[in-house]
This record gives sequence, structure tokens and C-alpha cells, in this order.
Amino acid sequence: MTTLPTPSATDADAAGMTEIADMVETRGDAAAGGAATPSDVLAVLDAAATVTVLCHVHPDADTIGSGLALGLVLERRGVPVQVSFAEPAALPESMRTLPGTHLLAPPAQVRDGVDVVVTVDCGSAGRLGALADRLAGAGTTVVIDHHRSNTRFGRWNLVDESAESTTAVLARLFDHWGVEIDRDLAHCLYAGLVTDTGSFRWVRPGTHLLAERLLDTGIDGAAIARRLLDTHPFGWLPMLSAVLGSATLVPGAAGGRGLVYAVIRRRDVGDLRSEEIESVVDIVRTTSEAEIAAVLKESVNGTWSVSLRSKSDIDVSAVAARLGGGGHHAAAGYTAETSAETVVADLVDALG
Ligand code: 5GP
Ligand code: MN
Repeated sequence: MTTLPTPSATDADAAGMTEIADMVETRGDAAAGGAATPSDVLAVLDAAATVTVLCHVHPDADTIGSGLALGLVLERRGVPVQVSFAEPAALPESMRTLPGTHLLAPPAQVRDGVDVVVTVDCGSAGRLGALADRLAGAGTTVVIDHHRSNTRFGRWNLVDESAESTTAVLARLFDHWGVEIDRDLAHCLYAGLVTDTGSFRWVRPGTHLLAERLLDTGIDGAAIARRLLDTHPFGWLPMLSAVLGSATLVPGAAGGRGLVYAVIRRRDVGDLRSEEIESVVDIVRTTSEAEIAAVLKESVNGTWSVSLRSKSDIDVSAVAARLGGGGHHAAAGYTAETSAETVVADLVDALG
């Protein structure tokens, strides 16, 4: 194995916590490790002879856009690289035209014992699902992310909580590296930027400058956004009708600020692909009578994957962390194994 830079003592302590982060998804401070600078991460990547880039389970365009962009850069530098995510088995249809999908490997074929495992857009080791075991076999681990709830489960943690998307963290890393952001890289980076900013709703100074740089490479921003955000099969409409028709408003929840929730059961989903239900929360959260929106999504194994959104005051990443998950101030999630009624009751409790 190649000789890789070694982390400071604080970082080494954090690396020891990876196992714990695997067992308990969110450990907050207990798992907190050292921060890495872009230069630290580049020193690690420059010394690596083999790299695996891991995305989170039920991937979105930010984790896949990040994984493929980093994969392409490493491939161009002559580094053998695999990009993967644990589940579901297939890449969501909307992401199949992203450049770099030839780097994707099925989880079972992801090599163990590479020099460096890099995780992208994962707030905790649990977000890697069944691929979390590849962390232990790696020479070293790098976490690149923007989640407020990030547990710093890597040896090197480049976590910018103020970044719009993980692809924005990567764009800045590529600049440090002297990587030219061409059309293919821009396509991947834009995919994460346009989706994680909710089509440029959640922005900060610099967001549009980055978008401008990416668009200037000649990518078709409208086509990328339409494919990722505005394309659904016809069956999406009756599913919405059934799910939204049973949405419930709990005006007294969250100290009187209100909770609105909808439940998506397997029978509502029918033959639709699981990715088709991800946008439901974007409709539910527009309810003016509720500060908090939740969507309960029933998984094939009967557990519930819960999406939480807040408008401004309430930090739902803290609420989700209390329930075993994590995320951002205004968008977070967790998994629960009880009945839908109990999930709602526990959520109302956690909202206080
Ligand atoms: P979504 O509701 O779109 O699935 O997720 C919203 C945010 O919460 C995303 O940033 C996502 O990474 C995070 N998130 C969703 N589910 C989980 C979970 O089970 N655990 C953790 N740690 N974060 C989650
Ligand atoms: Mn993200």
C-alpha cells in the first residue's frame, strides 16, 4: 500500500470512532474528529494509488454528482477509482445521463483495502449502508460533506456547513488542486448545486457566481434541471393525489407553529420507482399553517424513512438527530421502525 499522510492525534481519535458511528448513526460530539483543510485532502489524494468514492444510500444528485466528478478527476490523473452506493440496486433514472457513470460499481464489486476511501455528502457512516464496512479496510478515509450534523467519522474531514451542496465543496477543492472544470465536471457539479439549493431558492453570496462559472462551460442548465427535478412518469400524478389527499395538519405541534405531514405507503407507490416519491415533501412543505413538514415513506422492508423540513426558525437537523438521523437546519431525515401512528407521535414529542 502507498505511504499516505498520517493525521494528527485528534484525527486518529476520530478514526477510532468510526466503528461507533457505524452502530449508532448519529453520535454528534462523541464522534467529532479533526477538521481537514483542502491541502490535507489533496495531499492524501495525491499520494493514493487506489481510491474508492462512496455516496449515500438512496442517492440524490448531490452525492452522485460529487462522486462522479471526483471519480472523473481521479481517473484523469491515472488513479484506478470506483464510485458506488449501497442501495437501491440501480441508479435513479434521472441521474443516468450524468458524465462518469462508467465509474459506478455494484456494491458487491467494491474493492476492499484501497489506499483511500472518500465519502461524499454523507453526514455519518450509517449513510453508507452496507458499504460502511469499506471504511475499516481502507488505508485512510476522507469525508467531504456539508451537513450540519456531520459526525466527522473520517480520518480527514472536509466539512463546510455553509456550502450550498457537496458539489460546491468539491468545486472549491478542484480550484485548490488546479483542476480545470470542464463541461463534464461542470455537469456533475451543477446537478448537485441546482438540486440542493432547491433550484436556487436557498442561496448565499457566491452561489450564483459558481453557477455562472459552471454554465459558462456550455452545459445546458435548463435540460439538467428539467431531467433532475421536473420529469415524472404519468403514474406520479395519481400517487400524489392519493398521498396529498390524506395529508394532516397538526396546528398545535412545535409549540403552536404547526406540523403538516403526509404518509406514503407501499400501495400508494405501486409500480413507481422509489425515487418518484422524493419530491412529495416539496409540495407538503408549502403549507402556510405549518412551520414543520414531514413525509413518512414506507420502505419495502416496512420501516419508515422520514423527510423533515422547516421554514426558518426550527433546526430540524437537531430534531432528526434526536430520532437517530441528521441533516441540515431546514432539511433533515431519519429512519423509524414503528407504526406510522407512533412515528408521528414520537415526532410531535421531539418537536416539543
Ligand atoms: P431527504 O428528506 O431529502 O431524504 O433528506 C434531507 C436531508 O436529511 C439530506 O441532507 C439527507 O442527507 C439528510 N437525511 C435524510 N435521511 C437521513 C438519515 O436517515 N440519516 C441522516 N443522518 N441524515 C439523513
Ligand atoms: Mn447534499
